[in-house]
Amino acid sequence: MAEQRLSPHSRRREAGHRLSVLVPRPFAGPLDYKFDTPLAPGTVVRVPLGRQEIVGCVWEAEPTHLPVDLRPPRSSRHVAFGSLRAIISVETRIPALPETLRHFIDWVAAYGLSAPGMVLAIALRVPAQGGGMKPMLGWARKAGPLPESLRLTPARNAVLAALEAHGPASTAALSAQSGASAAVIRGLAHAGVLEESVLEGSPMSATPPEPDYAPPILSAEQAEAAHALIEAVEERAFNVTLLEGVTGSGKTEVYFEAVAAALRQGRQVLVLVPEIALTTQWTERFAKRFGTIPAIWHSDLGQKARRETWRAVADGQQRVVVGARSALFLPFAALGLVVVDEEHESTYKQEEGVLYHGRDMAIVRARLAGAAAILVSATPSMETLVNVQKGRFRHEVLESRHGPACMPEISLIDMRDHGPERGLFLSPLLCESIEDGMKAGEQSMLFLNRRGYAPLTLCRACGHRIQCPHCAAWMVEHRRRRILACHHCDYTQPLMKACPACEAEDSLVPIGPGIERIHEEVQARFPEARLLVMASDTLTSPAAMEEAVRKIAQKEVDLIIGTQIVAKGWHFPDLTLVGVVDADLGLGGGDLRAAERTMQLLHQVAGRAGRGSKPGRVMLQSYVGDHPVMQALIENDFIRFMEQEAAQRRPGFWPPYGRLAAVIVSAPKETHAEALARHLALNGPHGEGMEILGPAPAPLALLRGRYRFRLLLRTRRDIALQPVLRHWLAGVTCKNDARIDVDVDPVSF
Ligand code: ADP
Ligand code: ZN
Repeated sequence: MAEQRLSPHSRRREAGHRLSVLVPRPFAGPLDYKFDTPLAPGTVVRVPLGRQEIVGCVWEAEPTHLPVDLRPPRSSRHVAFGSLRAIISVETRIPALPETLRHFIDWVAAYGLSAPGMVLAIALRVPAQGGGMKPMLGWARKAGPLPESLRLTPARNAVLAALEAHGPASTAALSAQSGASAAVIRGLAHAGVLEESVLEGSPMSATPPEPDYAPPILSAEQAEAAHALIEAVEERAFNVTLLEGVTGSGKTEVYFEAVAAALRQGRQVLVLVPEIALTTQWTERFAKRFGTIPAIWHSDLGQKARRETWRAVADGQQRVVVGARSALFLPFAALGLVVVDEEHESTYKQEEGVLYHGRDMAIVRARLAGAAAILVSATPSMETLVNVQKGRFRHEVLESRHGPACMPEISLIDMRDHGPERGLFLSPLLCESIEDGMKAGEQSMLFLNRRGYAPLTLCRACGHRIQCPHCAAWMVEHRRRRILACHHCDYTQPLMKACPACEAEDSLVPIGPGIERIHEEVQARFPEARLLVMASDTLTSPAAMEEAVRKIAQKEVDLIIGTQIVAKGWHFPDLTLVGVVDADLGLGGGDLRAAERTMQLLHQVAGRAGRGSKPGRVMLQSYVGDHPVMQALIENDFIRFMEQEAAQRRPGFWPPYGRLAAVIVSAPKETHAEALARHLALNGPHGEGMEILGPAPAPLALLRGRYRFRLLLRTRRDIALQPVLRHWLAGVTCKNDARIDVDVDPVSF
């Protein structure tokens, strides 16, 4: 059926109407069908495809809304009207996709050279599916009388009254209804008064958020920034503002004022956060400010909840959505504001399937909707800073932390001189500081961005290193789960006793630390300390995450040991010391963006310290103390660091000073992949201002059993990549199960 391609405008014929329909399949464009009545673009329909029946969407016949450079080539094939198959039915239970969303889908596809149908599939995944329910959990009153020991504070009474009045609800909803904090609710659960319960309804608020519910008193600096953001929203036209502010400066409070402005206009707001785990704390803050919870959107929510949210967003009832990047594909009826929190985060990049950068596409989404966009960060990406310099983005800055909190003092522990004894990973200096903190009743955090026990297992007898059979990667020991796991595919194997190469017994040794190993070291060093490990594989559910946050807030924890999950926007006022176990970790690997990324991550994690009334300290363990990243961190000179980075990238036209696309050629056989990559390089585009680099083995030269070679196409900023790429790759045929994947604006290079 792939022969039914783009056609000129639908024309009235005796037998009915010719309509373009985009289906969720990897074709180059929409297919033509016939139907006896005309249907407006956006109408969701059921159509035959081969022997299947699938759900698709009536589409514009020609993507004239795209800039010429991005427009995919038209197909010359035209199916005669008589041979067209008919649309089976109109899906009346699914609201039509708004024009802004359709244009956005075309944009994402054209920019990333993806098939538009595969992008549509993201947007239709939820409404077009039935079944597959995953429950949404909340709190209910446990049956039976209240425990006698229970102290009934006014806040606790308010929670019980809210449950009585409205029935089971999520933490955030309950908090909004009762005015009690989440800690009070969790305290009641702890006391055995509440139990977890499956919520029947949606996680949405019944009441719309109120822009004037509980506005904070802003500092002069905050008020000024908020004012500018409010004005940006009130223009009712596309514009982008970078809200830059040190960690703890109150960026959230400030952009909430822009949210309020959009609400007053009766428009909708989308807030993207880089990590699902962060939505809990965010939702509570939102509820305090606006009196009700926002809709939450991410893949861990139940089907039913997501379907209802989808509808409520489409009919404009749901006013505010917070979520992961896939929320960009919700059918907003009247979008007025898009916020990208922690805009520099590389987690915004979708790295599988349809590739797109959530931040960049958020800007496109805002532009197509005539909405304001706000990018929020303490350490903006170089892309964003360049856009500010060029005057494309506005810029608002918060210079100081809110209230009494001041910026933490950052110091370096030179591990060459002050490292620990062999086999240990925490320097005596860091341990002393932890001890001092504990004596003072303060909390500390150790940060190491590596899950598991040890990143490498080595045979002392023969030197063999245990590698994933499917990837060019070492197997990571996870001692608690008693396995070796590949962090790039899902391959695992049980821990072994003997070396698989030389069969020597008891010769395998773990090399280097993961957080399990740091946990072990801390346990031995501070047996009395109350420890909490936070990593994506120990905190697997939102409930587990909430419980961890509760423990920290109620000071049931002395020391937190965590991966990048703890680095993000958390606000723990009693946390005064942050120790970075291996500050050098992200710097290896020859990636030009490594320094920028390490800088952003370490700055972010440092920002967790000293957010309350007590001053914070950050200690970086490093073997490369004179590295520009370490120097910038201890001198707190982010601007100079970024200038140095810019100076390195500008001459070679590296992003953001030029454009870049990675072309990854992969095949089950190395020779096949390499031959195709060489062929591509030889027949590549050439001309003024463009260059092909490679082929070279890709950063992961073997992944899931496929050998990978990478070519980079780098062009000057004023040259559009997409037509060059399309022309280059158009005639290429892939044999031997080889594949070509294109990644426009790769995150690492
Ligand atoms: P950032 O996102 O810049 O790191 P947050 O928005 O998390 O900072 O603010 C840090 C803390 O200060 C939060 O607990 C926040 O509620 C509080 N805060 C910031 N501004 C105000 C204000 N104007 N009034 C009351 N609390 C504020
Ligand atoms: Zn693997």
